[in-house]
Amino acid sequence: MTPEQLKRLIEAVAKTIIAETDRLTALDQAIGDGDHGLNMKRGFEAVLADLDGLSRKPVPDAIKAVGTHLVMKVGGASGPLYGTLFLTMGKELPADPSMADFAKAFVIAFEAVKARGKSDRGQKTMLDVLGPVCDALAAASVAPELGDRIKRVATEAAESTVNMKAIRGRASFLGERSIGHMDPGACSSALMIAAVVDSLETA
Ligand code: ADP
Ligand code: MG
Repeated sequence: MTPEQLKRLIEAVAKTIIAETDRLTALDQAIGDGDHGLNMKRGFEAVLADLDGLSRKPVPDAIKAVGTHLVMKVGGASGPLYGTLFLTMGKELPADPSMADFAKAFVIAFEAVKARGKSDRGQKTMLDVLGPVCDALAAASVAPELGDRIKRVATEAAESTVNMKAIRGRASFLGERSIGHMDPGACSSALMIAAVVDSLETA
């Protein structure tokens, strides 16, 4: 991956999240405290402000640095969790990572998020998107249609949180009333994954 590709990738993820602030806010207003959109926007604005610095770093260091920005700026429950995701990915990646290296690092990072959140799949959180994406990556060989498959898995997984009852995070305070709304963190995870796939495909 060239510095230019890395820059475009980070920029695509950041701009996608910032563009969807209102949607993430609305989802969190329904079953949380309404700050997920602004939390994520604040984090990714810090990432964008550091874009040139980030893209000059080796890929693993750049991903770790994104994680540090998110830990410092996002706040809420999602900041440390997304921070853990990116920091662990960065730590696990070799200097010049292949697709297979990314897939392996993603699975380890997913496990780290689970540990950090004391949470698991089926609890109506970001894990309900990140988990199925891990499975799809683990099962897949690199093929031209892989990107589309990953995006479809992520979108459908986010949709599947609508009918779940929240067992972790603020939405769990609502109990049964959390059913009927998509989890905000599942939505932001699916948006980020789609942005990564789109950016890699145009690279
Ligand atoms: P807060 O809930 O503190 O207001 P955000 O609104 O930014 O923080 O993030 C909420 C999202 O964080 C939820 O939609 C959910 O996906 C995710 N989340 C919350 N707690 C956990 C947890 N223990 N494990 C995994 N994800 C979690
Ligand atoms: Mg919130």
